[in-house]
Amino acid sequence: MIHNGMEFDTYFKNYPDKDGFFGKYGGAYITEELKAAMDEITEAYFTICKSAKFISELRRIRKEFQGRPTPISHLERLSGKLGNVQLYVKREDLNHTGAHKLNHCMGEALLAKYMGKKKVIAETGAGQHGVALATAAAYFGLECDIYMGSVDIKKQAPNVARMKILGANVVEVTHGLATLKEAVDAAFAAYAREYKDSIYCIGSVLGPHPFPMMVRDFQSVVGIEAREQFIEMTGELPDAIVACVGGGSNAMGFFSGFLNDPVDIYGVEPLGRGATLGDHAASLKYGEEGIMHGFNSLMLKDENGEPAPVYSVASGLDYPSSGPEHAFLHDLGRVTYDVIDDEDTIDAFFALSKTEGIIPAIESSHAVAYAIKLAQKMGRGSILINLSGRGDKDMDFIIEKYGIR
Ligand SMILES: *Cc1c(COP(=O)(O)O)cnc(C)c1O
Repeated sequence: MIHNGMEFDTYFKNYPDKDGFFGKYGGAYITEELKAAMDEITEAYFTICKSAKFISELRRIRKEFQGRPTPISHLERLSGKLGNVQLYVKREDLNHTGAHKLNHCMGEALLAKYMGKKKVIAETGAGQHGVALATAAAYFGLECDIYMGSVDIKKQAPNVARMKILGANVVEVTHGLATLKEAVDAAFAAYAREYKDSIYCIGSVLGPHPFPMMVRDFQSVVGIEAREQFIEMTGELPDAIVACVGGGSNAMGFFSGFLNDPVDIYGVEPLGRGATLGDHAASLKYGEEGIMHGFNSLMLKDENGEPAPVYSVASGLDYPSSGPEHAFLHDLGRVTYDVIDDEDTIDAFFALSKTEGIIPAIESSHAVAYAIKLAQKMGRGSILINLSGRGDKDMDFIIEKYGIR
């Protein structure tokens, strides 16, 4: 299938290239020492992940532990209110731990086991990645060090408790602003020291090669399942698909199943309080090319060219860059990246809860809000939304800040 002059039949063979580039985006901008460690992971990934044993073990885990395949639900009542467009959701909220993140964490931890590593290392901001990785580490009997800024540790007490209950070691990072950026630096430094016995597990399609590729591949199960299920359910492909984009892992896994199809693809970034720098985290829509955390992508920069402060009501979406493959698909025009603000997000959170009995994560509510607007614009057809996670984690915050709508 050709989109905007680009051939997508061979897309996954060609991207990323051997150095981890999607066009000019991606790569591995890291120290020699870390590069050696990343090369070891790349090599292991290419051999181990093709082995029948690894593939069948991952399949079994997905079925028996995670509860995959997750279903697709038809949003009949919500669609009825909007007119003639039918909305559907891929239910990653029903994946074990309540979100898509476990898909790549189980893959990364299984890879660690096959590589003979004893420990997994990561950073976490809001704690969602930390909880998913701690779950995977518990399942495989691996040690787990999660680096977290002290500011975030105070803000995210329930997730800190979850990680500790799951047996993870939460390492407090106190320097600088003591939030995600410092936690990333500390986790990278720890990995450089400990890479012989450990593996670094990133939380999205971010970071140096091979992570954007590996996390996409582990998340591609979402897109593969969704495509099959949707065709089985309706007899055809959806006209459009929608997912929220923070780092971009749920979106990339979901989109990968449909890149070669005649399907319109939409990635939704958080507009937060508005289009002023500092009030949103829409790096694909408003960012410029830049390198951070070891990779080249589109990035929101401050006046000094450093990563800008960002904001979103959804803590899982407030990152000043996005995965390099999204930047590539953005420039190609294969995926349309657009924005939804906090207000529309909260309305969609209540709309899905009240009309369908599904309480979505605030992150996922961005995709739902966008699909509602798109449905009104399209007038007819079908839209499949990736519901990346459930909203239990967000309920206290929403009730306190917005009340019941
Ligand atoms: C972390 C998270 C996201 C954002 O991460 P991506 O890598 O962009 O998918 C989205 N939804 C939920 C529920 C999350 O926990």
